[in-house]
Amino acid sequence: MDCKATKTQLADLLLDPAAATPAAREHVAACAECGKELHDLQATMLAMDAWDAPEPSAYFDTRLAARLREEQANPPASFWERMRARLLCGSNPHFRPIAAGALALLLMLGGGTAVWMQNGTQPPVPPESATVHDLQLLDGNAQVYQQLSSLDADLDDDSGNPSKN
Ligand SMILES: [Zn+2]
Repeated sequence: MDCKATKTQLADLLLDPAAATPAAREHVAACAECGKELHDLQATMLAMDAWDAPEPSAYFDTRLAARLREEQANPPASFWERMRARLLCGSNPHFRPIAAGALALLLMLGGGTAVWMQNGTQPPVPPESATVHDLQLLDGNAQVYQQLSSLDADLDDDSGNPSKN
């Protein structure tokens, strides 16, 4: 018998050793790990036997009943609080799968709408960096200066201005 199979019988070995199989008893006697686990459980049970659980006060039931009556007399909570309480503490076993399905459907619809909206529009143009912008400006200015100076040279040639020569 291996450790895993023995551990399923630890409760029997602890509470009613006669109910456990002989193989489990032999394994616990031979295996140090399982023997220690059984010994620890026995120590815990001894400690629990020595502990006296405190008695509830004489008025516990009365006060609990009064609190319950107060809660029943309170006005009903808001819709979302009631839904939350039903989701967390509800006893209807079919409600959770239905709620999970509804949420999944909502997620799929939302995701599909987002994809559909993104496909309809162009991807955003990445903003150009300031350096690129400055270089483009300088390039444009250089072209303008070149054109101006060529115009100036043409004018000088046509007029035959002596100051240039
Ligand atoms: Zn073992």
